[in-house]
Amino acid sequence: MSDPLPEFIEVDRFAAKGGHLEGGYAVAGLKRLEQMVAEPAGDIRFALNFRRDDEGRSRISGEIQGEVVLTCQRCLRRYRQALAGTVDLTALADERRLTDIPGDSEPLLTDGQPVRLADLVEDEAILALPIVALHPQCSPPEHDRSGGSEESPFAVLKRNR
Ligand SMILES: [Zn+2]
Repeated sequence: MSDPLPEFIEVDRFAAKGGHLEGGYAVAGLKRLEQMVAEPAGDIRFALNFRRDDEGRSRISGEIQGEVVLTCQRCLRRYRQALAGTVDLTALADERRLTDIPGDSEPLLTDGQPVRLADLVEDEAILALPIVALHPQCSPPEHDRSGGSEESPFAVLKRNR
């Protein structure tokens, strides 16, 4: 195993040394995300790179991936939703400098304080949630035929493509 993850990160210091962090958190420990899912199962994995850009800003880029259990809003059954998101953050110590961030990046307001890594990852996971939770191939109960399998083989084929 690699070093344990720090609970807090000093973003500027980490960016200055070109830090890299990767790991994962169980959904069960992420309180806000936990309230948005149907059950506290699955986990959120992340890989983040920290760097200073040409203008001296601290940037965080990388990816999150994971799986959560949501309730399909059409058939009301639970299903596993894969999450994937691209992280592109620019640390800002002060809200007044919001106009400073590059167009393709999201602000990360730090107030000059260390950032809790789990909060950062949780925020990104929440952003990656679908706006409306739906099965990839949902068949509403009223259209179910003679209690066949949960999922048609065609749905599986499509997903594996
Ligand atoms: Zn459904």
